[in-house]
Amino acid sequence: MPNHPKFAILHAPCFRQIELTEMPAARPRTNFIRQIIDADLEAGRHSEIRTRFPPEPNGYLHIGHAKSVWLNFGIAGDYGGQCTLRYDDTNPTREHEEYVRAIADDVRWLGYQWTAVAYASDYFEQFYRYALELIDKGLAYVDSVDADEIRVLRGTLTEPGKNSPYRNRSAEENHRLFEQMRNGAFREGEHVLRAKIDMASPNLNLRDPVIYRILHHPHQRTGDQWCIYPLYDFAHGQGDAIEGVTHSLCTLEFEAHRALYDWFLDNISTPSRPRQIEFSRLNLNYTVMSKRMLTQLVEEGDVDGWDDPRMPTLSGLRRRGFTPSSIRSFIASVGITKKDNIIEMGLLENCIREDLDPTVHRAMAVLRPLKVVIENYPAGKSEEIQVPNHPGNPELGTRPVTLAREIYIERDDFMEDPPKRYFRLGPDRKVRLRYAFVIQCREIIRDDSGTVRELRCHYDPDTRHGHPPEGGKVKGVIHWVAADHCVEAEVRLYDRLFSEANPLADKSRHFRDALNRDSLEILTNCKLESGLAACTDDTRYQFERLGYFFPDRDSTRAKLIYNRIVTLRDTWTKLKSR
Ligand code: ATP
Ligand code: MG
Repeated sequence: MPNHPKFAILHAPCFRQIELTEMPAARPRTNFIRQIIDADLEAGRHSEIRTRFPPEPNGYLHIGHAKSVWLNFGIAGDYGGQCTLRYDDTNPTREHEEYVRAIADDVRWLGYQWTAVAYASDYFEQFYRYALELIDKGLAYVDSVDADEIRVLRGTLTEPGKNSPYRNRSAEENHRLFEQMRNGAFREGEHVLRAKIDMASPNLNLRDPVIYRILHHPHQRTGDQWCIYPLYDFAHGQGDAIEGVTHSLCTLEFEAHRALYDWFLDNISTPSRPRQIEFSRLNLNYTVMSKRMLTQLVEEGDVDGWDDPRMPTLSGLRRRGFTPSSIRSFIASVGITKKDNIIEMGLLENCIREDLDPTVHRAMAVLRPLKVVIENYPAGKSEEIQVPNHPGNPELGTRPVTLAREIYIERDDFMEDPPKRYFRLGPDRKVRLRYAFVIQCREIIRDDSGTVRELRCHYDPDTRHGHPPEGGKVKGVIHWVAADHCVEAEVRLYDRLFSEANPLADKSRHFRDALNRDSLEILTNCKLESGLAACTDDTRYQFERLGYFFPDRDSTRAKLIYNRIVTLRDTWTKLKSR
């Protein structure tokens, strides 16, 4: 299938370049949904494929939603069809304009463009008329028992439900009452409108589901125009039909609702006949993926808002430094099936590593600095060394790095009492400075408390340009920055938000008790290569030996802040397997 230009990926921001990429996920392995669509096209059931992405604007999108975005927009794009961004705004008590904007931003950021934006609320008048149609056909009735009673009468999985005493109201009475409901004649809970299906159905969704309720609550788009609102099940399929959606793709929890979806379409004169197809949700370990729980984390202050870089939200991943293409390739690698499973967070982390590794520039940054004075290097002298921006990719060029008598190295790269197989610095030990010469530690300077404050070293001039030192090769190579030629920054190291793979496993306690209290470490006074001062834009780096980093949205020239996107290797799995 041709890739429709409307859905072409806009760009994948990378290192100072705009990369025009083909949609990576659009034509990968086929899946059961594509097979259904292919068969429908072959049978001539549709001339154009239409899908929709239907978020409820009651929170920010998370990576689970990305699966649905990828699927709906990807399919429409691949088949030269259309995909609507449709807000499912049927519950005004939980929805906000802030979420509407954030959702659109996130979909665009992921690289997709909708054919049209729609709101379930655009169709309220039409839905109301559909409800009247059901009433007039004797297929819906106004019930006046309260919510508790409705629940009791509904029965259970093993017992059939019982009819409400109001079930046999005449169509005329129902019509009149429903009009009065719309006109605000009743209090909340006084009446509801129910579909009249079958109180003995083995599928509980078909036991006369409520389709309209009274809510005296202004709506963010329709204001005070309505005081009755349709329920999701009623609005969804009819919204699909109005838009001419051909394949309505949703997650597995709606499987048992499909009979109801079809019942409405069978009994209402809608302009088209969509088909609902379910697929499994994306679940990730070490996080939670429900907007209700994510809202709690935000409201309780466990995180710094919806875009906290530890959140599984798209805005959090974006702020952390994930690229849209890494998320798309992650979703593509998970695939679309009907099988429920939990995906390893490590897989997502690998996708961003693989995405960044070939292109991002390398840089030297010292996060926990320890000063080293190279005593035999002349004071006042400095030299520029041309170093590759990417050791594996000469096309990415070189940059100058300044070397001088005083440098910083990582505290971790020195041990006072190093074991034999520690190949970095220790008393009298030698190590190579990356792109420079070998130094040897001669003296340790301490502060009053006995903490190592500074190392005095000597360099070996014969070891420049990678020449091995006399008496054999030095195994260790460490990164460094020159003390007078670096910039200071704050660096934020993120770890997983929860310390347990399944934060919801233990039902006896609150999921927030499984939060990883060490998921954020803020390091101040980090020393970075001076070239990094200007990078407050969309620039990612690999800090050599440390990981991939991205400037935080709060980073400025006056106060540089870098977020660690991901470490270089999967340290978590290693820790676990110890
Ligand atoms: P949550 O439980 O996180 O609040 P939701 O299903 O209520 O999610 P919606 O805004 O209704 O959120 O979701 C919009 C679309 O995204 C729906 O079609 C839904 O099926 C899909 N979706 C939501 N979560 C996931 C997920 N984890 N994996 C795949 N698709 C998802
Ligand atoms: Mg929902």
